[in-house]
Amino acid sequence: MKKITQKEIVMEYFKKNPKRDIPHPEIVDWVVSEYLTRTTNVFRDPDRQIRQLHQSGFLIKVKKGVYRFDPEFVQERKLEDFTPEQKQIILKRDGYRCVICGKGKAEGVDLQVDHIKPKDKGGKAIIENGQTLCAMHNFRKKNYKQTETGKKMFIRLYEAAKNINDIDTMNFCAEILEVFEKNDINGHIIWKK
Ligand SMILES: [Zn+2]
Repeated sequence: MKKITQKEIVMEYFKKNPKRDIPHPEIVDWVVSEYLTRTTNVFRDPDRQIRQLHQSGFLIKVKKGVYRFDPEFVQERKLEDFTPEQKQIILKRDGYRCVICGKGKAEGVDLQVDHIKPKDKGGKAIIENGQTLCAMHNFRKKNYKQTETGKKMFIRLYEAAKNINDIDTMNFCAEILEVFEKNDINGHIIWKK
């Protein structure tokens, strides 16, 4: 079962009570007790999570200590996506250049803000987890695992063919592995011919 995050549990209550002004003690009491029941952990700083959800545009601050969730007001966005403001900070920090190849607007590349630790692995929308990548390197990063698996598979097949002296299969694998090297894909996996 997926572990619930503190942000998710705060949003759960607001989403159950849409378009209602919810005073601070009500939400805090509920999330603290729910979080304890579900995770057996203590939710130490609900104020901080509520504040962050407001800053990220998920909650409307009605007045001091009163927040409101309005589904029509909140833009459809996943909890751990970077906000436009966060993206600007990350791009600026990285000098508006891809952190891998150093290319930027001057070279005509499209820059994207990437989660260093991916969202589906629990990566958070915090500045430290963001990096600037060009469209090509972002795509490569996303496909890294697949090409990695492919390269390892052809290396194993090449070795197996070598053991039984199957020259045709060896040549076939060698040709594919040379394509990996020619295109500089997964260079960290060393293949010895
Ligand atoms: Zn790049």
